[in-house]
Amino acid sequence: MTLLLRSAEFLKHKTGKHPERPDRLIAIESMLEKSGLGSKCASVSWDALTEKELMQLHGPKQIEQIRQIAAHGGGKADPDTVICPDSFSVSLFAAGACTKAVDQVLQGKHQNALCLVRPPGHHANATKSMGFCLFNNVALAAKRAITVHKLNKVLILDWDVHHGNGTQDIFYEDPQVFFMSIHRYGNGFYPGTGAVSETGALKGLGTNLNVPLAYGVSRKEYLESWKKGLEKAFEFKPELVILSAGFDADRRDPVGDLGLEPEDFGSMTNALQSLANSCCKGKIVSCLEGGYSLEGLSEGIKEHLGALLAKN
Ligand SMILES: [Zn+2]
Repeated sequence: MTLLLRSAEFLKHKTGKHPERPDRLIAIESMLEKSGLGSKCASVSWDALTEKELMQLHGPKQIEQIRQIAAHGGGKADPDTVICPDSFSVSLFAAGACTKAVDQVLQGKHQNALCLVRPPGHHANATKSMGFCLFNNVALAAKRAITVHKLNKVLILDWDVHHGNGTQDIFYEDPQVFFMSIHRYGNGFYPGTGAVSETGALKGLGTNLNVPLAYGVSRKEYLESWKKGLEKAFEFKPELVILSAGFDADRRDPVGDLGLEPEDFGSMTNALQSLANSCCKGKIVSCLEGGYSLEGLSEGIKEHLGALLAKN
């Protein structure tokens, strides 16, 4: 079965007039209800990540900055990144969902999981919160797999339209985590990193793979690039796959503006699953990142979750 982690708590991260807004999850909930997909998934309760665990990855100055801004009525971590009074606790709850999903999948309770969390995480590195992201959910989930479950190799894939710069930074010198990001790149598209030449450093050399694509890339070329990247990433032979699942490459997305159709997210999931099935028994933990067209987001998740459920 697929484990689905969702909670009204995530609506408490109030960002005002901002693309990364609570309505995103409300639109997804409505799709889950109408399609009946929500009732086909397993559910579980979880706790917020402890600060001790947060500190294994994020620096004390960064944690204190977010906590203080929230405690003083809210503000911004950077010009794009809104913090409200509940945002600190909500972000720990989001990270807690992703680590709980790792526990459940690695304990064999569910083959795969989808964490419908916010705020997103992939732009946050170990010292800086940025780009709508406070703490790095997928990186914390990967850490959990390595430190608590003693895995040796974790693969993080990122199909959000933006480069997962935070995740790349965190694991750039780490040989235990392979990171692959497919993203729009060039002409100043945010965040600006994610070139092919960024391949990791020191012991992590060769464990970072960027697949940058230019504005106007065709769906066919996008999907082929994803599959080619996957083939290379799976040579790493991971024991678990964590996915930064953003849906802002959808053709209706006001931020990403790239051109994918919802069914492309189903095809990308299928391609990922066939490799994960033969390599790590299909163990996939998917975590929501971006996606700012309410239609594009909910329809993309419908295809993605449908594919996760179908292969169980
Ligand atoms: Zn994005």
